[in-house]
Amino acid sequence: TILVTGATGQLGRLVIDSLLERGAEPSSIVAGVRDLTKASDIAARGVRTAVVDYDRADTIAAALEGVDSVLLISGSEVGRRTAQHQAVIDAAKAAGVGKLVYTSAPKAPTSDLVLAPEHKATEELIAASGIPAVILRNNWYTENYAGNIAQARETGVVAASVGDGRVASASRKDFADAAAVVLLEDGHLGQAYELGGDVAWTYDELAAAIAEVIGSPVEYRALTAEEHAAALESAGLDAGTVGFVTALDAGIRDGALADTDGTLARLIGRPTTPLVEGLRPLA
Ligand code: NDP
Repeated sequence: TILVTGATGQLGRLVIDSLLERGAEPSSIVAGVRDLTKASDIAARGVRTAVVDYDRADTIAAALEGVDSVLLISGSEVGRRTAQHQAVIDAAKAAGVGKLVYTSAPKAPTSDLVLAPEHKATEELIAASGIPAVILRNNWYTENYAGNIAQARETGVVAASVGDGRVASASRKDFADAAAVVLLEDGHLGQAYELGGDVAWTYDELAAAIAEVIGSPVEYRALTAEEHAAALESAGLDAGTVGFVTALDAGIRDGALADTDGTLARLIGRPTTPLVEGLRPLA
């Protein structure tokens, strides 16, 4: 039996789909969710559902009964995630789970990316637990650029402070398929896979891809970090968000998301979704 946490999230739902597409028995899957009322469509497919709230250890222990493999989808409450993930790791250890799969970030152990520390800490907790594990260091979702499409439609511009940094994004579906593969297949234990799209694109290429899907010209405007911060402030973002966004862009500028070696495509047995195809459904 496989437990998928965060199963009512965008990635989690796609992982459930992918497990079923790959022939997993619905009754061999437990969708771990915070709110069962959001999971009625999942339950309707014959998938078991259980409350898994990272802040309530009792829910995690109960959901793990009879579970061999766990996909821990990293939480969304930045700053609280290490403790939340620790609760899942501790419960998985106590339950004798034989495979723990975790969605991490590119080069988490060494990355300067502002989001990396919680992933690094979680990877260390997993290693210290001794649970046989597979680490999926997921690059950016192409879907993260939905906001840029909306902005480009209004202004004809993609504004960012990434310089000529590259991003090897892939669609959530690609990452979900990889998670399903490592959950269902033997032979991945002990691996930390750097997963990204087949192409590491520049923001000039992003602008061209957005232009294609919205059908009007778009240009990339390369801002300095200071110009970017000022633009975000005047758009009404709070100081914390401005700092976070510009720090992410600095990470991209410095190459934190630029590596791609085809591992994701190999795992899923097909090319990753091209940028323009990943953007098209968002337009
Ligand atoms: P979503 O925000 O759609 O889903 C996050 C999931 O985490 C939800 O199911 C949510 O539950 C669950 N969750 C959050 N907090 C808790 C908690 N305390 N206890 C139990 N479950 C919790 O994100 P995605 O599915 O798009 O992405 C999955 C994860 O990937 C994110 O949480 C984040 O860690 C990371 N991420 C990666 C990005 C990338 O580009 N690689 C971009 C953005 C995020 P509920 O459904 O009840 O809200």
